[in-house]
Amino acid sequence: MNLSTPIEELAYVGPAYQKRLRKLGIKNVRDLLFHFPHRYEDFSEIILISEIKLNETCCIQGKILEVKNTKTWKKRMILTQAIVEDKTGAIKVVWFNQPYLINVLKEGNLVCLAGKVTRGKEGLYLSSPAYEKIHPISDIGLTHTGRIVPIYPETEGLSSRWLRFIIKPLLLKFRKTIPESLPEKIIESNKLLPLAEALWQIHFPDSLNLAKKAKERFSFEELFIISLFVLRERQKLAKESAIPIPLNLPLLKKFVNSLPFKLTDAQKRSAWEILKDIEKPRPMNRLLEGDVGSGKTVVAVMAALNVAKAGFQVALMAPTEILAKQHFQNISKLLENFNLKIGLLTSKEKPEGKVDISVGTHALIQEGVKFKNLALVILDEQHRFGVEQRAKLCQKSGFKTRLIPHLLSMTATPIPRTLALSIYGDLDLSLIDELPKGRKKIITKVIPPEARQKAYAFIRKEVKNGKQVFVICPRIEPEKNQQKITSWAEVKAVKEEYNKLSKKVFPDLKIGMLHGRMKVEEKEKIMKDFKERKIDILVSTSVVEVGIDIPNASLMMIEGAERFGLSQLHQFRGRVGRGKFQSFCFLFTDSPSKKTQQRLKALLSSENGFELAEKDLEIRGPGDLFGSRQWGIPDLAMASLKDIFLVEKTKNSAKEILAKDPELKKYPILRRKLEEFQQRIHLE
Ligand code: ADP
Ligand code: MG
Repeated sequence: MNLSTPIEELAYVGPAYQKRLRKLGIKNVRDLLFHFPHRYEDFSEIILISEIKLNETCCIQGKILEVKNTKTWKKRMILTQAIVEDKTGAIKVVWFNQPYLINVLKEGNLVCLAGKVTRGKEGLYLSSPAYEKIHPISDIGLTHTGRIVPIYPETEGLSSRWLRFIIKPLLLKFRKTIPESLPEKIIESNKLLPLAEALWQIHFPDSLNLAKKAKERFSFEELFIISLFVLRERQKLAKESAIPIPLNLPLLKKFVNSLPFKLTDAQKRSAWEILKDIEKPRPMNRLLEGDVGSGKTVVAVMAALNVAKAGFQVALMAPTEILAKQHFQNISKLLENFNLKIGLLTSKEKPEGKVDISVGTHALIQEGVKFKNLALVILDEQHRFGVEQRAKLCQKSGFKTRLIPHLLSMTATPIPRTLALSIYGDLDLSLIDELPKGRKKIITKVIPPEARQKAYAFIRKEVKNGKQVFVICPRIEPEKNQQKITSWAEVKAVKEEYNKLSKKVFPDLKIGMLHGRMKVEEKEKIMKDFKERKIDILVSTSVVEVGIDIPNASLMMIEGAERFGLSQLHQFRGRVGRGKFQSFCFLFTDSPSKKTQQRLKALLSSENGFELAEKDLEIRGPGDLFGSRQWGIPDLAMASLKDIFLVEKTKNSAKEILAKDPELKKYPILRRKLEEFQQRIHLE
């Protein structure tokens, strides 16, 4: 038996357990050892029976004087009752509906019990305690009581007790055979627990502090791998070549003067950073970050114009067809006097002949699309790791020698500092941190159930005045990791809301519906109708149409607001308030929880996406910050992305190692882990 031994070959792991373990992705001994508890119960203090107190959880040791099963007077439940004695006294112990216990716990057995002290008719008793027989010559020690006990994430049919029973002997046998994955220097300088010790302490800690140290070691390791990945990407790119695009100042001046508005200072600064960056013969790798409505498109268009007029091609990729089309229309309009050929490329549309600026969806990277000289790629609201897209586009860039297109990625997701340093560490950042002048503050309100009718009346009034309304429906989480079902649940939520609004609440208004399962043509028709004001109220899912620009929409209603992260809510809110009139955002919630109410209220006081993102990160963790998107980033790393100290430490350590050994020749284990990580993020 070794670390790779499949669970099927382990003792006590029958077919039912095999199935449950496989469901968690646990395939072999190694996986079991790396299945970590998420919290602990501290039963480490063993007290005397004379010291027990009512309503306190305690751990005692003693001898079983008697044990028997009885039925309760209702005859529904079987009670196992025992009397346990130590040198200071005796106490009754009761378990419910576990009749088999009398086959395990016998008169005369020495036991350790941990549970809560309750008062019954006949005095104090221990209620359903965790139990464990004490073997006078056991080599494995106490597992479920008399120590700090691990509690594993709950899974049906896999109790923490069972997992402890299986994992503990494996740990004792194998933990020292796993080669250390972190360089010794790094372990020393960061005062981390070595692997074998950390594995033991994370499962069966000697103190809560050691449990924390163990968790820190594994968080460190995961973040360290991410840092290595990101730094290596950066290094690799620095060795590549790109077409330097000279800055054409007169051209850009002409463009800026043609705009119907004045650029904000933040837009000018960002544009300048980008334009200076693409002058270099090294590929740009830059993130343009700015709140919804901050005007990222114009900035990107300035770069696109400069590149196109220098005689090279540009590709802009959007996540959905509707957005691609909107971009295509906007860009065509912005550049109408510049004599450039702009093409739309989606699964339906194919441009003819040579195009200067191709706007499209994923279709851009599909087979058959060939560029002549692609020098700039712009990704709008794409996946964090745009590596893959760029790599694919590179292959079609059309250059004879290896030239990498410059990359500009745009996002409205505010990225807190820890994330900027870690998972976004390979990107340079340009920030649009102000909104165009003259935008009115959006009035935001949390609407409890009793105020719903009043809110509806208000909405009706707004619509009668010619305004339009968005309604966003939440995702109903059915089961974890079941993305397909999730999006169906979302469709269901939208349909229900649509029916309710169109039949019951607003039968006199025109209601439309939009969700990701509709055909592209249907979606486009709905968006077009909404733009042309043929629809008053548009009920939509949360994921589909980020970035849609409807200036006449002044009301954003969000159902089940408590299910969204603050920064996501903030982004929905940014869909309105594009026009000149006062806009509103109503957050509907049926949740009576004070905490929820308070969390939502943060939106009333803050209009700062960054502030809200930091709050999200603090309250709900980074997973939520980015909505439903997943990155293949391991859980511990995700959770520890909150911890700026840890993030900085891992980053510095990664730099240190790479400075001496850029190819990680001396660290084959790290190299393998890095490859695994790379594969995981590419597989998403
Ligand atoms: P986002 O950053 O969310 O992608 P857009 O680029 O779509 O924002 O811009 C939102 C709206 O603001 C567009 O209608 C755009 O024409 C307008 N806009 C952009 N910059 C300015 C500005 N400096 N002043 C006024 N309006 C602007
Ligand atoms: Mg946009």
